[in-house]
Amino acid sequence: MAKKEFQAESKKLLDMMINSIYTQREVFLRELISNASDAIDKIYYRALTDDNLSFNKENYYIKVVPNKDERTLKIIDTGIGMTKEDLESNLGVIAKSGSHTFKSENEVKDGHDIIGQFGVGFYAAFMVSDVVTVVSKSIDSDEAYKWESTGSDGYTIESAEKNEVGTEITLKIKESTEDDNYDEFLEEYRLKQIIKKYSDFIRYPIKMDVTESKLKEGSEDEYEEVVEEQTVNTMVPIWKKNKSELTDEDYENFYNEKHYGFDKPLKHIHLSVDGTVRYNAILFIPESAPYNYYSREYEKGLELYSSGVLIMEKSPELLPDYFSFVKGMVDSEDLSLNISREMLQHDRQLQIIAKNISKKIKSQLLSLLRDDRDSYEKFYKSFGQQLKFGLYSDFGQHKEVLQDLILFYSSTEKKMVTLEEYVSRMPEEQKYIYYATGDSNERIDKLPQTEVVADKGYEILYFTEEIDEFAIKMLMSYKEKEFKSVSSGDLGIEDENKEEKEEAETENKDLFAEMKTILADKVKDVRASKRLKSHPVVITADGEISIEMEKVINAMPD
Ligand code: ADP
Ligand code: MG
Repeated sequence: MAKKEFQAESKKLLDMMINSIYTQREVFLRELISNASDAIDKIYYRALTDDNLSFNKENYYIKVVPNKDERTLKIIDTGIGMTKEDLESNLGVIAKSGSHTFKSENEVKDGHDIIGQFGVGFYAAFMVSDVVTVVSKSIDSDEAYKWESTGSDGYTIESAEKNEVGTEITLKIKESTEDDNYDEFLEEYRLKQIIKKYSDFIRYPIKMDVTESKLKEGSEDEYEEVVEEQTVNTMVPIWKKNKSELTDEDYENFYNEKHYGFDKPLKHIHLSVDGTVRYNAILFIPESAPYNYYSREYEKGLELYSSGVLIMEKSPELLPDYFSFVKGMVDSEDLSLNISREMLQHDRQLQIIAKNISKKIKSQLLSLLRDDRDSYEKFYKSFGQQLKFGLYSDFGQHKEVLQDLILFYSSTEKKMVTLEEYVSRMPEEQKYIYYATGDSNERIDKLPQTEVVADKGYEILYFTEEIDEFAIKMLMSYKEKEFKSVSSGDLGIEDENKEEKEEAETENKDLFAEMKTILADKVKDVRASKRLKSHPVVITADGEISIEMEKVINAMPD
């Protein structure tokens, strides 16, 4: 039998592919399963227009069979199969995608479920195997054929025996060496894991014979090994299900199964968007921050799927930093993937999705704030700091998004309030939004500086985190009301005791001068004050920043 050469510079291309396109070997299985799923899809689409063909979902499946003794891994499907010509043109020509042609020729309306497009995925099999054998029988042919290749030096095609329409791919798994272990691709549990990771939402069942220890019938302590055919994948992704069919528990289970967190999510957001970029997304607002959340180790991002196949475990572009706590996934059929399907060719689509998602997160947080204040406050305890960092960073350009999401403790309400609530309670003559800074609410309560403002009956916001005042400085004002520290020199409160103050000032002129000399390098001025009631002295800030902020700045490394 004559051996045929791969066409084009296939050898080089194949080598390059095998060694450089994919970052992880395990994706070979994702590629072969995706092809099998495409092959079944093709029968499904054919049946839509061909009356002689009926599509009965039960008859279609993918099966993965490892055999340790023979060191083989089989991927079997009941899809459309390949004719001799198909084998030649689709597997003999690298970068030729039968699936891509199928999509364009058939103008399949919903053909976006078909995954293949580049015509290289199949060759990923050579990353883990020395010999790849494909036995296939096409729906359009009575003959079956066998295609075989060792990768580097072409392939052979010959007649073969196969009764059912479909394809059976056998990989002869490479021998392990000291540096490279391939044995894992013969392990049942590992194969299951890989299938779960990348192909959990393939629409057809992916079956495996799973060995399990079971109690012997009639016995209480004797176990036997039982082999059972199991479907490994979930098939219908939760995000494709109808929202009305899903319960909170379904979402919580998904959150746990996906290991998004160990807590119970406070809220889920389920999106099905049919805009410029079509996508489905399930997002979660967690209740508590992961232990490394406020550290450099924490990586933000959402899982990214393309037509149900996992592309990226963490796509950071999908979330702005200030919403980095959000967990979840996005699935889109409109992504332009690069050839390894691990990256995107350009990120315009991602940007559109990200922008969209951000808006939704904001509106859902606002609704949580409005409708379930307790939950919101729990959320805010965990992630409020991040929102304030967001206000402060990028020169305050996200203030529109964030200003209504932040909370501060209020001196009059004795609880956390929003800026909106504060402003709505302001008496007409009150000029500023007042705040006081300190280590804790209790300490701020005792600050002499708060007395004048509190005496006027004005509400004071308590800033107990270092970021608070920085964030507010970026904001500058809220609804045209500026922020004012209670320790600032000019509080904008009508000074009713002006004369008395001047009198005290003249009376104590010498004393103040003396004090100024003694405190020369510590204070700028010593003045009489009528602000004080229960405290003998108060230190006020001179410039734009409060005493607390000065402390933070002074503590910063140069
Ligand atoms: P892609 O899936 O991007 O088209 P592949 O290299 O994975 O590229 O596969 C090349 C082509 O081989 C597919 O487009 C398809 O026509 C054909 N093919 C591969 N695997 C199968 C299969 N299991 N059943 C039927 N056709 C297949
Ligand atoms: Mg493919």
